[in-house]
Amino acid sequence: MKINVVKNVLAASEGQARANRKRLDDAGVVAVNLLSAPGSGKTTLLEHTIPALSPGLRCAVLVGDLQTTRDAERLGGLGAEVTQINTGRGCHLSPAEVARGLDGLDLSGLDLLFIENVGNMVCPAAFDLGEHFRAVLLSTPEGDDKVAKYPTLFQGADIILLTKTDLIEIVDFDVSRVREDLAKLNTKAPLVLLSSKTGHGMDEWLDWLRGRARGGVSEA
Ligand code: MG
Ligand code: ZN
Repeated sequence: MKINVVKNVLAASEGQARANRKRLDDAGVVAVNLLSAPGSGKTTLLEHTIPALSPGLRCAVLVGDLQTTRDAERLGGLGAEVTQINTGRGCHLSPAEVARGLDGLDLSGLDLLFIENVGNMVCPAAFDLGEHFRAVLLSTPEGDDKVAKYPTLFQGADIILLTKTDLIEIVDFDVSRVREDLAKLNTKAPLVLLSSKTGHGMDEWLDWLRGRARGGVSEA
C-alpha cells in the first residue's frame, strides 16, 4: 500500500508537469527551468538577460524561494511579469506551484518563461515542472568538483552555464576538470563560460535562448 501511495504522488506530479507543458505549448510559450545551488547567480543572470532580450522576446519569471520576495523585487523593474513563489519549507518548486504561478500570468502575451527554481543542487533535478529546457548554473566559487558530485543535476541539463568566470583565477577553478566530468555525464548540453559582471559569454547564452524561443530568429 505504501508503495502505491508513493507511485500515486509521483504520477500526480508527472501529470501536472504534462498539463503545465500543454498550457505553455498552446500559448506558444517556451519555459526554461533554472537550477543551481543558492548564490550561483540565477537572479543576477536574469537581471542581465531579460533587458537584453527585450523587446524582441516578451519574458516572465516565476521565482521560487523558501521565504521573502527579494528576488522578485530585484527582477521587478525589468519590464517582465514576475511572480514570487514562496515554498515555505519546500526545497524545490513543484509542478502544482508552477501551475498556480501560470494562473497569474497572461500567457498569450509571452514568448519566454523563466522558472528560477529554489537554490538546491539535489531534489529540483528530480521534478519535471513542465519546462521545455533546463539551464544549470555552476559558479566558480562553488568549486570545480561539483559536476561529479551532483551528476543528476548536470545529466538533465540542456545548457550548462559556468558563472562568475571573472573569479576563475581568484578561486583557482579548473575548467578542464568540469569538461572531463561532463564528458562522462552529458555531452549534448553546451558549456557556456559566463560572467554577468563583465558580460563575457552573455551573447552565447542569449543566442541559445533566442534559438529556442518560438518567436526567436533561428533554431540552434
Ligand atoms: Mg535567486
Ligand atoms: Zn526538495
